Amino acid sequence: MKAWIVEKQKPIEEEPLKLVDLPIPEPGDKEIRVRVTHCGICRTDLHIAEGDIPLSKKPVIPGHEIVGVVDALGKNAKRFKIGDRVGISWLNYACGKCKYCKRGEENYCPHIKRTGYDVDGGFAEYVLVHEDFAFDLRNISLPSEELAPMMCPGITGHYAFRLSEIREGERLGMLGFGPTAYYILHVAKSMGMEVYISTRSEEHRRIAEKYGADWVGNIAHQDFPRKVDAFIFFPTAGKLVERALENTTPAATLVLGAVTMSPIVIENYTANLWGRKIKTVYQVRRDYGREFLEIANRLELGIEKEIIRFEEVPEAMIRLKRGEIRGMVQVIKIGEI
Ligand SMILES: [Zn+2]
Ligand SMILES: [Zn+2]
Repeated sequence: MKAWIVEKQKPIEEEPLKLVDLPIPEPGDKEIRVRVTHCGICRTDLHIAEGDIPLSKKPVIPGHEIVGVVDALGKNAKRFKIGDRVGISWLNYACGKCKYCKRGEENYCPHIKRTGYDVDGGFAEYVLVHEDFAFDLRNISLPSEELAPMMCPGITGHYAFRLSEIREGERLGMLGFGPTAYYILHVAKSMGMEVYISTRSEEHRRIAEKYGADWVGNIAHQDFPRKVDAFIFFPTAGKLVERALENTTPAATLVLGAVTMSPIVIENYTANLWGRKIKTVYQVRRDYGREFLEIANRLELGIEKEIIRFEEVPEAMIRLKRGEIRGMVQVIKIGEI
């Protein structure tokens, strides 16, 4: 099969991704083999290629926003039939037995495996996954090219949204408007929430307004019109955290979505931190993923995207790095549905 691998991490312009021909993998006992039709490109893939994150496996096939068709079954894989449509996200495996898995927080499992990082991912014609960790897309009517980006920004965004503890009719603020915030905006508006978005990008400002944001501006220079009940924060600039908190009520929850962050300094504890909860998004969970896919299906959610040919992946990732993509996301079309 054709696959893009990363063996030696380096800047994306120096071609860390190599196109290779590999044997088609055989599914283990409870695994399924998926013939990949679509795979979204995530900023995390860029970090893996460039070395911002050390490699966990070498070489590795990146890609964790996978949609495809079940193509072969392991000896004891019973959940799906050949030809069923499934999705695969970042969460490739959790043990199901540890204290975190038992209390429903599988994202903290010490035995976690991540797609396109600890195990090979979807920048390839075929991929393997334990049957329990594939999303069942048989009752979802959305097109596969829409479902692929939902496998990371969609379900991660919904996890952040749920962590925020926001309720119907309340007010949500977000700083940074990428695809994750885009999906959150849709879900929040469908629940009657007021949503304020801070972004520097003109293109993102246009898209946020088009899809119903109640206020779009830049909190580096101006306050939200009113204080919010929950705040989801995406940048890695820790110095903006107190600015975000200044725009929240004391009962609010602040959710940080970043994997890295520059130092966070809170100067005025009583005014800006007292009472609030701060949480972080750590990996992903299947329960919120399933919930999001049902909501997305009901809302017939779609996103502005670039469709990328398999051979174009390195060039597409250069444009991702430069912030030159058209729309919100990039999806590689790998096989026929
Ligand atoms: Zn991702
Ligand atoms: Zn576990």
